[in-house]
Amino acid sequence: MALLTKAPKGTQDFLPPETFDWQVIENVLRDEAVIHGFGEIRTPVFEHTELFQRSVGETTDVVQKEMYTFTDKGGRSVTLRPEGTAGAVRAMLEHAMYNDGLPIRLFYFTSCYRYEKPQAGRYREFHQFGVEMFGAADPIADAQVICLAKSIFDRLGVKNLALQINSIGCPECRAKFQDALRAYFESHRADLCDTCLDRLERNPMRILDCKNPSCAEIAKGAPHILDYLCDSCRDHFDGLKKYLTAAGVEYTVNPTIVRGLDYYTNTVFEFVSTDLGSQGTVCGGGRYNGLVEELGGKPMPGLGFGLGLERLMLVLKAQGIELPAHPHCEVFVASMGDAALLKAFQMVRELQKCSVLAECDTCGRSLKAQMKYADKIGADFTIVLGDDELASGKAVIKNMKTKEQRKIDLSESIADQFVAISTEAEDLAF
Ligand code: ATP
Ligand code: MG
Repeated sequence: MALLTKAPKGTQDFLPPETFDWQVIENVLRDEAVIHGFGEIRTPVFEHTELFQRSVGETTDVVQKEMYTFTDKGGRSVTLRPEGTAGAVRAMLEHAMYNDGLPIRLFYFTSCYRYEKPQAGRYREFHQFGVEMFGAADPIADAQVICLAKSIFDRLGVKNLALQINSIGCPECRAKFQDALRAYFESHRADLCDTCLDRLERNPMRILDCKNPSCAEIAKGAPHILDYLCDSCRDHFDGLKKYLTAAGVEYTVNPTIVRGLDYYTNTVFEFVSTDLGSQGTVCGGGRYNGLVEELGGKPMPGLGFGLGLERLMLVLKAQGIELPAHPHCEVFVASMGDAALLKAFQMVRELQKCSVLAECDTCGRSLKAQMKYADKIGADFTIVLGDDELASGKAVIKNMKTKEQRKIDLSESIADQFVAISTEAEDLAF
């Protein structure tokens, strides 16, 4: 029987204060996306299974091994999204977003589900920030999408993230490449895993993405797609390199990148970190000019990327990058007796309305226990209210760091007095 107090394998809980780091990162991602002209899209966590089979591709690891697929009570086959692009394309077509002008630029935060072997940087539920751009065929669009990812990493101060680019051509030049690959892998048949033997018949390029060590070793000697590009695909790739250079974005060409999903054409790219071992790809993406048509729309070029948020967090941690600390209690209003608690409650309410993080007792604690609690949560200031304070209309506010004390007037605005006192304390601290 499953242990009720343990989250399912491959999933994680995110708790405060760590979730504040996530909010900080998400704000940077959202901000950069908006600055680059992208608007947010939110799509369902599950879609018709066929959507992923058609888009991600029948011969991919994701569809063959990793999908969370089930039949709902109405007898439909549905799948928890393993990635974000398929849902975004489906929604773009369903709402005919192309009628509002091209290009369409979308971004999203999604949870994704893949039945994989859990390890550091690889989970069964994970989170992605993704962007998609539709209707722009020129390599300037590829460069802009890559520049968005680059701006995000730069703004977060992430170092040692290598941008690797490749082109996997169009269906025409890829057909010739697939023939060459098939001939090559045919001669190494004996050392391929069972899945790759199937791929050898259906889609030999997928063998290049196999994680099985024996297949990966053979793949090292395989023909390179770049030697098979047609003129137009070569021009596109050269164009991308030209724009990246113009933007001052460093890259290396890695002809072994094919990406894990079937829908890519032309540009593919990854941002790879050396800090994460074999889970080093923090961000991966590319162009998918055939996907919109594959899903029932009119032919329309598209491109995008998915950025793994857990991996981004791991890189930030590995590089010791400091994020703003979680806001903590600025003032704790301690009290003795019912009348004082009522007054403390009103003061906290006023402070909160003025965006001051204030707290009072909510657990019926003694004054001593309240002060211990205020200490534990690291309150910057404390105020103590009792019968004497209520009677005199005056109380004391104490700076817990400097131990300095000030008088406050209970008949005046507590927020105004607090802001003046805390601003003065901050000024003195500098
Ligand atoms: P990998 O080769 O590492 O399996 P992938 O090619 O399957 O990655 P994509 O489908 O391109 O990955 O997803 C985009 C990003 O999502 C990846 O670059 C990675 O940062 C993240 N990602 C993918 N799978 C997982 C997972 N199981 N757990 C955590 N993050 C993941
Ligand atoms: Mg994968």
